[in-house]
Amino acid sequence: MILYNTLGNEKQEFIPFESNRVRMYTCGPTVYHYAHIGNLRTYIMEDVLEKYLRYSGYDVTRVMNITDVGHLSSDADTGEDKMLKGAKREKKTVLEIAQFYTDAFFEDCKKLNIKTPDVVEPATNCIEEFIEMVSVLLEKEYAYISGGNVYFDTSKLDKYYVFGNQKEEDLEVGVREDVEEDLAKRNKTDFVLWFTKSKFDSQELKWESPWGLGYPGWHIECSSISIKHLGEYCDIHCGGVDNAFPHHTNEIAQSEAYLGHQWCKHWFHVLHLLDRRGKMSKSKGEFLTVSLLEEKGYNPLAYRMFCLQSHYRKPLMFDFDILDNTVTAYNKLVSRIANLKNDGEVDTNVANEYIAKFKENMDNDLNTSLGLTSLYDVLKAKTNDKTKLYLIEDFDKVLSLDLIAAADKLRAENEQKSLGVDTEKIEELIAKRQEARANKDWATADAIRDELNAMHVVVKDSKDGITWEIQQ
Ligand code: AMP
Ligand code: ZN
Repeated sequence: MILYNTLGNEKQEFIPFESNRVRMYTCGPTVYHYAHIGNLRTYIMEDVLEKYLRYSGYDVTRVMNITDVGHLSSDADTGEDKMLKGAKREKKTVLEIAQFYTDAFFEDCKKLNIKTPDVVEPATNCIEEFIEMVSVLLEKEYAYISGGNVYFDTSKLDKYYVFGNQKEEDLEVGVREDVEEDLAKRNKTDFVLWFTKSKFDSQELKWESPWGLGYPGWHIECSSISIKHLGEYCDIHCGGVDNAFPHHTNEIAQSEAYLGHQWCKHWFHVLHLLDRRGKMSKSKGEFLTVSLLEEKGYNPLAYRMFCLQSHYRKPLMFDFDILDNTVTAYNKLVSRIANLKNDGEVDTNVANEYIAKFKENMDNDLNTSLGLTSLYDVLKAKTNDKTKLYLIEDFDKVLSLDLIAAADKLRAENEQKSLGVDTEKIEELIAKRQEARANKDWATADAIRDELNAMHVVVKDSKDGITWEIQQ
């Protein structure tokens, strides 16, 4: 597979350290607020990458951290602690906020068919490991203590700007004007490994360390959690492009200083989702979430398809008109699949030909928009429906648009309609009955039940929710 590698700034053949295994690391969310659909663009594209690597035969282990401590408003260790800011906003403890938004994040991921990584580790679980890593960096004299904090000394490295095109001024991005420069640093690019002198009076979470009561810097968590679960070598490390500098640059600095050899070979960065104000960001306060899209009536998978239509290395402008077009395209696609008949035998020669084309597209720096085109090519192919269904199901292992399930549902609805069953009306009545029951309005609930009975609808409650069928 050819993938763009930010380390080297070029497309390269993706070659893991071990031939068949891929050790993959993903920077997880900072759980002080809901994830916005920009964050989720990054997680969707990383999910496609993981699934495509598995599809290509690799045995993938994927690890993700949850940032629940240490991430300050500016990525360069200045400003307020993001978790503390969230806790104050909602008058809750930091851990309550962390749990709530971690759960919300995974609910969003589920709706978008983003697979949960094999290992998910909150930073606050790994304080001992962080302390061990900082101790080794101090022993090796890559770190120093100053003004009460422990810093990484970037002047000890032959090359700090590993991705090439960053500048010291970039560190200022996101720093508010009222934030004082940290005079305890020896070099402007040095970064905090461990805060002992808290910058915040009300810092809630603090741990004992050889350097006093304190808490870890943000960057140390990803290096340490990756090494803890994936070992000394990582094949591919992912994140949004804003993570490249300073976060990933600092991760490389401290990991390689600690290990004494190269750590991660390949760096995969997803470009931003933009809105009219520029980069969509949590700190701007107003942003779009999956729940908001659902409230507006959008199927979250239409947003997934919206993301797949564009290349991960191009900025993507969010626009409701384009999302509307994607909804139409998704529904048409599902409807065409629903019209296929599941009979005959899979024609292996034809299937292999189309699989090869799909792989050619995806092997070319994860070209998901051409990956989607492969679905349309299959629908147009001169072969039987069984082969088409087989291929669509196969490609959807990577694209994850639930195409077969959505087509089955549509087909069932169409069948009901042809029998004179008004599916929409029935579902509306069931929802109203649920609402009446929740409000303890038994009279209305009973009246609706009678109406459903008259239509021969039998409603069943199960652990997966409410289902219904017609019994004549
Ligand atoms: P955070 O929760 O802020 O730590 O970010 C979680 C992930 O979302 C990181 O990989 C960020 O790089 C990424 N990210 C943040 N903003 C955007 C955006 N507007 N578009 C795409 N990815 C983003
Ligand atoms: Zn990270």
